[in-house]
Amino acid sequence: MSKSNPSAISPSATDICIESRDALDLSLCYVDSHSHLADLRVDAEAWILAAQQLGIGLYLQGGVDPEDWQRQLLLAKKYSGVIPCFGLHPYFVADHDESEVELALDQLALVAGQAQAVGEMGLDFRPHIAKNSHDLQTHAFIAQIELALMMTKPMVLHVVQAFDETDKILSHWLPPFDGGVFLRGIVHSFNGSWPQAQAYMQHGLGLSVGGPLLRQQNLKLKQAVASIPMDFLFLETDAPDQPPPQFSGQQNPAQSLLFVAEEVAKLKNISTQQVLDICSQNMRRLLSKTELLRTP
Ligand SMILES: [Zn+2]
Repeated sequence: MSKSNPSAISPSATDICIESRDALDLSLCYVDSHSHLADLRVDAEAWILAAQQLGIGLYLQGGVDPEDWQRQLLLAKKYSGVIPCFGLHPYFVADHDESEVELALDQLALVAGQAQAVGEMGLDFRPHIAKNSHDLQTHAFIAQIELALMMTKPMVLHVVQAFDETDKILSHWLPPFDGGVFLRGIVHSFNGSWPQAQAYMQHGLGLSVGGPLLRQQNLKLKQAVASIPMDFLFLETDAPDQPPPQFSGQQNPAQSLLFVAEEVAKLKNISTQQVLDICSQNMRRLLSKTELLRTP
């Protein structure tokens, strides 16, 4: 974790007025819906300590590759708030050949029982990431959807520049749910439009928003968040990546979750406190699996 420099924090950081919460009370603490605390760049102990001081006590992870899953388990043993999530990140898939991906998918099927969610899975078709891996990414994505459905675990999706392809896959594997709130997982770092958010919600996916929401010019996402029902919204840091502008150039600190909540509150015209409470409750509900066990 980078050394935090108080002078780099905008004045409104201290203006965010939230009720103090005991982060060790996991039924009341605030929830970070996506981070990578097992990433080798992160000083997890310092990060978690800072998070706890803000009342943030549950951290759903994003799985990357088999080595990352092992590090997540070690971390979860030490900190009860770290929630393991195992999956093959599209970056991993794009950087490995078919036999390596198959082997990792086999390993995933063996160990996924030790995680509370499956992901991050999905498609990242930015040319510098994807190279020639579109077919392999699609294959790994579908295999992980099947695994999550079979194991009744929430899924965590990563989708960049591949909305149409993703929607096609989801239409087949996660047929639209008609009415009401029914969640099968989240799209992490959602950065799309309102029509895209609607499509994801119809597939039973919540939208998790983070640092990109705080970019001033990101009107498309701000408009989408203004329209997304609160029951479908989640807050994330994606630490150590995607710091909001306030922390640009640094590793993303836990504090950025409060800035994201504050921005959602402005867009929804409700209090930051309410946003933190509702979004945290949404993740607790998803992890309790009560949502997943409902039949659409
Ligand atoms: Zn991630």
